[in-house]
Amino acid sequence: MALASSRTIPAKHGTAIQLAAHQSIKIYNTYGNQVVDTWAFTTDKALATQKPSSYMSMSQTRSAIRKICPRINDTLVTNHCQPILTLLEDNSGGIHDTLFPACNPQRYAHLGIPHRSCAENCREAAAVVGIEVLQGEVPDPLNLFMNVDVDWKDTLGIELRHPVSGPGSYVILRAEVDCVVVMSACPNDITLVNGMNCRDVLFEIIA
Ligand SMILES: [Zn+2]
Repeated sequence: MALASSRTIPAKHGTAIQLAAHQSIKIYNTYGNQVVDTWAFTTDKALATQKPSSYMSMSQTRSAIRKICPRINDTLVTNHCQPILTLLEDNSGGIHDTLFPACNPQRYAHLGIPHRSCAENCREAAAVVGIEVLQGEVPDPLNLFMNVDVDWKDTLGIELRHPVSGPGSYVILRAEVDCVVVMSACPNDITLVNGMNCRDVLFEIIA
């Protein structure tokens, strides 16, 4: 899959990109099966190693849209309940997760497997553009393409399932304010979350 204007997030790594208000980002599930943990931090001021005070919040978004997964035209909001990103297009089947936190070093240490993690990918990528996210303070991400089964009737369990999004499927998110979007191609190759095969992800900015 080749797109002239696209950029690559290498498998198991993250990246951060500045969006101006009303710009959009198109995030591809290039090969299918790959979860992309996604954050957004508002950047009203010039970036100079600042701690984010306003960021996309999954709990506030669930409350605002009255859903556990955003649909087309739903607007995701910050921890201050302000609009930050709107889901404009989604041809992936619409299966995403807002319930799970980013995988982190502690989770892998618990499993006895030292490993890259989405939480550290977020912190590393955000630092490159001057945003300091402290360990333990990584916001819960929008887990694009992540397939989580919720048992509403019996155990009330939440289970990771094999992804259902196909190769080349994508979402488009529009910035409602100036913000930095951070993405992590989830490095979890231990469970079914990425189909046991972590891959690169493409994205492009749409003016
Ligand atoms: Zn992850």
